Amino acid sequence: MSEKEVYSHERKRMVDQQMVSRGIQDARVLEAMLAIPRHEFVPQDQVRRAYIDAPLPIGNHQTISQPYIVALMTEFLNLKGHEIVLEIGTGSGYQAAILGYLAKKVYSIERIPELAERSRSLLHSLQLENIEVVVGDGSCGLPEHAPYQAIIVTAAAPEVPKPLEDQLSDGGRLVAPVGSRMGQVLELWRRDGKKLVCEKLTPVAFVPLIGEHAWLDED
Ligand code: SAH
Repeated sequence: MSEKEVYSHERKRMVDQQMVSRGIQDARVLEAMLAIPRHEFVPQDQVRRAYIDAPLPIGNHQTISQPYIVALMTEFLNLKGHEIVLEIGTGSGYQAAILGYLAKKVYSIERIPELAERSRSLLHSLQLENIEVVVGDGSCGLPEHAPYQAIIVTAAAPEVPKPLEDQLSDGGRLVAPVGSRMGQVLELWRRDGKKLVCEKLTPVAFVPLIGEHAWLDED
């Protein structure tokens, strides 16, 4: 088997054992998880662990999320292909790549310039051209391209940052881990005109969102 075939086999196993068996059903989400080469998004010393059922370190005290959580959050966004999506917390760029596969355009904001630069050049080298990585404080959103049909926050916030609520389009969906620094609950918000409806989903653990509308410092 070539290296490429080995990884594609590992992805198939990841999808069957970690996603389908736990109830992920959206066929397009499963297709994206099969297509995007997760091993490209982890550091050299983690490549052999790229498809295990866990988050992994990516440097700068940050992590690439557990594959199942990526699939779950993506499924909650219910993407059909026409959406403009905002991601807060680019990290490795993996979640952004999955979103780019499923939506029309993705803007992803990262606070740490080295991570933003690395994921930008990786996404470019994989020819994933509908994803734009922006350096900045994602807790303020990205008003210049708003509104977004979908917003995903991939860092833990004490509450959903108000600017993100304002940048969500009518009928749009937002998914975010909300809680303390120690643990959070995944929340799904849906905008219906002026009204926002919130549904609490499942317990999760993310690294903190650091910014003006989140936590102000690293500890
Ligand atoms: N989605 C990523 C994992 C995110 S880890 C992936 O697929 O790999 C959380 C990321 O959020 C970290 O890279 C961290 O630097 C970033 N982050 C934290 N606070 C932020 C903020 N206010 N704005 C943008 N990014 C932020």
